[in-house]
Amino acid sequence: MRPEPAGPAGGPVIIGAGLAGLVAALELAPRPVTILTKATLDGGAASFWSQGGLAAAMLEGDSPALHAADTIASGDGLCDPDSVRHYTEGAPAAVAALEGWDMRFARTADGAYACKLEAAHSHRRVLNAGGDGTGAAIMRALLAKVRETPSITILDATEALELVVGDGGIEGIVVARNGEISVLPTRAAVIATGGSGGLWRDTTNPPGAIGQGVGLAARAGARLIDLEFMQFHPTALDVGRDPMPLASEALRGDGAVLIDDRGEPVMADYPRRDLEPRDIVSRAVWRRIAAGRRVYLDTRAAIGADLPRRFPGVAASCQAAGIDPVAEPIPIRPAAHYHMGGIQVDRRGRNGIDGLWACGEAASTGLHGANRLASNSLLEAVVSGQDVAADLAGIELPAGATPTAPAVAPPARDPAALQRVRAIMTEHVGVLRDAEGLRRAVSLLLREADAPGPAQQALMVTVAALARTESRGGHARTDFPQHDPAQAVRRAWTWDEALAFARELT
Ligand SMILES: Cc1cc2nc3c(=O)[nH]c(=O)nc-3n(C[C@H](O)[C@H](O)[C@H](O)COP(=O)(O)OP(=O)(O)OC[C@H]3O[C@@H](n4cnc5c(N)ncnc54)[C@H](O)[C@@H]3O)c2cc1C
Repeated sequence: MRPEPAGPAGGPVIIGAGLAGLVAALELAPRPVTILTKATLDGGAASFWSQGGLAAAMLEGDSPALHAADTIASGDGLCDPDSVRHYTEGAPAAVAALEGWDMRFARTADGAYACKLEAAHSHRRVLNAGGDGTGAAIMRALLAKVRETPSITILDATEALELVVGDGGIEGIVVARNGEISVLPTRAAVIATGGSGGLWRDTTNPPGAIGQGVGLAARAGARLIDLEFMQFHPTALDVGRDPMPLASEALRGDGAVLIDDRGEPVMADYPRRDLEPRDIVSRAVWRRIAAGRRVYLDTRAAIGADLPRRFPGVAASCQAAGIDPVAEPIPIRPAAHYHMGGIQVDRRGRNGIDGLWACGEAASTGLHGANRLASNSLLEAVVSGQDVAADLAGIELPAGATPTAPAVAPPARDPAALQRVRAIMTEHVGVLRDAEGLRRAVSLLLREADAPGPAQQALMVTVAALARTESRGGHARTDFPQHDPAQAVRRAWTWDEALAFARELT
């Protein structure tokens, strides 16, 4: 394994070119920084795929305090109130920063932001652009800036495999590029690798979103927190595609209803019917599917022929699958969508390992608690990227070390192993969980988890889910269906602790 030259002047290296990574890099300019992405620069990031938008209290009558109250209500007892205040108060400045990079959000004729109302928000506060293409619009604007910023070096098709940690903290990153493994020396690594939804077979996440950054931080000794909380989106299109295209919640906001294959409404017995929060709808749909039915989103009466104009992304996905949503209901099922858990970080994005920071979905800041409020994650990506950059700006990095090869071997490439993990997670660690299934998953994953790779990430999630013997937010146990007030605490794990817990069971 040979050392590679670091980025210009050996500056910080950001792993991941989604919204969080790009914001951190732009905020650090003109300080030299390198961004790694295992995909191409304009592919592989969930940030491109986000449809709804970014939550910020920008309209009259709304306020960061109201935004905070909605966030805390969604988080089901586990939000960190300081973190929530930090993010909701920081939202207007995050919007201003994006606009400073030439992002243009939709506005009404009188110049106000054309904010949308989304489930569990008490006010219209979801800034958007381009119908259901908000994330792509933000990413296009930021990428244009990144490309014209000389202090940012981009290494695409470069995959981070391990962190090299010495006595003084981070010394480098083991990367795979052009089929070769090498070490990139740096004293500051920022993990911005996005989510973990790709660990499940049914997911809306890009294929590379398998919690790899979270895994490499764990193997370097970082603590992971809230891992059991995966948000399942209730209406992913069940049309045989992997990943599954998303049918935005806004469709139900506009009156679309969930029905089964007998035409019976799925949400009829719930007070807010189809407008119940995401986790409740996901569980209702899942129960219907487990009872052998298919479930559909019926947009015909409420939206009808207007669907292609108002929801072009959804219309295109339906068309590609040979479905005409104007004439027929759209088949859907819940899919792993957003991971509340991740690398435990403080306000600065630090986690206790010198030279290691994390931001975006890979980090867990306490903003989301047990259940993310819709559209708070793009906000989190921007603010946490800014926080990491602000912290790094005040730090002079120690002189470069000459990293030695890490003790752990780089992961073997085995697509079949990932598919086995995804099947286990979908069957046993899905929308509804119980001890028997979770124990089975632990024993199956342990067989796969001896080398770094997706099985290790999946095992940590499963252990956390087994240890939480209650239902809360995105974590639903059929054997413990109620909240347990004694468990209203966030739980953090090291890799060694999770492994020891798993081994004790077998
Ligand atoms: C379909 C969909 C719709 C969504 N809609 C919304 C919405 O409307 N509003 C909202 O707030 N949130 C939404 N979300 C969630 C939101 O998009 C994400 O939480 C957010 O974009 C995460 O940003 P990020 O920068 O942390 O990660 P990402 O944007 O996922 O970027 C991760 C980057 O890391 C790279 N990477 C990963 N592993 C490695 C590695 N080992 N080495 C090198 N590079 C690596 C990837 O290639 C990518 O460049 C949605 C998500 C999905 C999937």
